[in-house]
Amino acid sequence: MSSDELRSALWAFVRRENDAYNVLVEWLPRTPELADFLGAELHAAMRATRWDDDSALFALRQRLWRHLDPGGKLGCLCAGWPDRKRLGLGSATVDLLHSDFEVLRARNPWLELVRCTTCGRHWYAATDTVDDDYYLRRLTPAELAGIVERDEWPADYDGFVNVWPTEPGQEYRARLEWPWKDQDD
Ligand SMILES: [Zn+2]
Repeated sequence: MSSDELRSALWAFVRRENDAYNVLVEWLPRTPELADFLGAELHAAMRATRWDDDSALFALRQRLWRHLDPGGKLGCLCAGWPDRKRLGLGSATVDLLHSDFEVLRARNPWLELVRCTTCGRHWYAATDTVDDDYYLRRLTPAELAGIVERDEWPADYDGFVNVWPTEPGQEYRARLEWPWKDQDD
């Protein structure tokens, strides 16, 4: 692989777009050129990281991030996201809202106001444990004030049954709608 290809594959891993098992167990041993790209120490640390150890994965992603972006121009992961971001919920991201974010307020167990601990941006987060996805909606200052001061939340998830308590007798109700059908990432 060229260094550009290595770089984009590692960025995808840092952004949690690639499954940790596939990267660490399948891809890493078959990519010896990574040793030169990362340097011996970071390469060894990556090889020693277990794909199912969430805290070790978090630390590894932070180290790779600094390696890929030594000047820190990006600031944090969420700075590069669009206003509406869908992200897979898996072993690598199970603790996301508590590792990279701080939960400020909960509307219910699946809908939360969160703040990025690195850049301070506020997001309205939905955790869909049925289809295993996070939905993160960037908040404007006015929307943030609406939540904090008046308990008024944006309507993005209002019709999304996966993030609301099931009502008695409605357990098998078809899902009304998914938010942001245009978002495939
Ligand atoms: Zn951020």
